[in-house]
Amino acid sequence: MKEYPMNLQELKKEFATKKQCLDYIYKLRWPDGFYCPHCKYSEPPITVDKAKHKYKCRICWHQTSATANTLFRDTQYKLLPLWFQAIWYVTSEEKVIRALWLQKELGLGSYHTALNWVHIIRNVMGNSKNDKLKGEIIIDKCTIVNQSVLVAIEVSGAEIKRICLTRSNPSANNFAHFVRKCVASGSIIITDGNTVPDELSYKAGYILKTAHDKQKQVIEIVASISDILRHSRFRGSLQSYLHEYCFKFNKRNSESKFYEFMKIAIQVRSKVTQPYVEPHMRELHEQAYDYYMDKKLRKKILK
Ligand SMILES: [Zn+2]
Repeated sequence: MKEYPMNLQELKKEFATKKQCLDYIYKLRWPDGFYCPHCKYSEPPITVDKAKHKYKCRICWHQTSATANTLFRDTQYKLLPLWFQAIWYVTSEEKVIRALWLQKELGLGSYHTALNWVHIIRNVMGNSKNDKLKGEIIIDKCTIVNQSVLVAIEVSGAEIKRICLTRSNPSANNFAHFVRKCVASGSIIITDGNTVPDELSYKAGYILKTAHDKQKQVIEIVASISDILRHSRFRGSLQSYLHEYCFKFNKRNSESKFYEFMKIAIQVRSKVTQPYVEPHMRELHEQAYDYYMDKKLRKKILK
């Protein structure tokens, strides 16, 4: 299977119908053949609807489809080709895509729909679960368009490798959540000595270091973001734009940002439009979800 289109023309040709899009999502989710997402049973399932890739597990009777538990879970199938194009534009274009432009380009009936799509795509960009920064990380705070932002920069010497930025007040608690969310345990956290609480070292396994000469990388990143936002006459939510900037920066050497995005999109459980949930709360949410699924499963078996 070819993993991604190389340009917009290829994208429009390869994903012109809902079937082409569904086949692509299916192959991304199950590259080595179907297995039940609930009980992991991997023998061929009962086919409920072949065209829509809807299946039922032979062991636990869990029913699933290509789009279940992905970004596209509630999307009308006929809109999938347009969704793929929107994803292409927002992830692959250098400039900041504006909703009004996207609405015209895709021929969408409503500006609100285009705005919602851009917002969703940006939020998914910030949802990569397996992409924590690691190694030497500078942690700092800054101000972008008059809002307080926490900054994490993965460095190798003077070189900036990857970044993570979140709009948040710079309290000790927020810094601790931020570091746990975006930096892998065992990493070296470099600060000016005031920002990150000491407890992170013994509670979460980070090595804390103090340095006062690491500010130039932070200034470089902040100047770049501020510059882009000034030139694009940006009016959206700063947090969702920060997701986009970090995604594009971190994937700058990837051949296909579209493909990088799709790998994240097939793992998100919802359209991520809900309010931001602190990482420690998210874990509780997920436990509650698993418990709910177990309960549903037990009911099915007892029937
Ligand atoms: Zn199963």
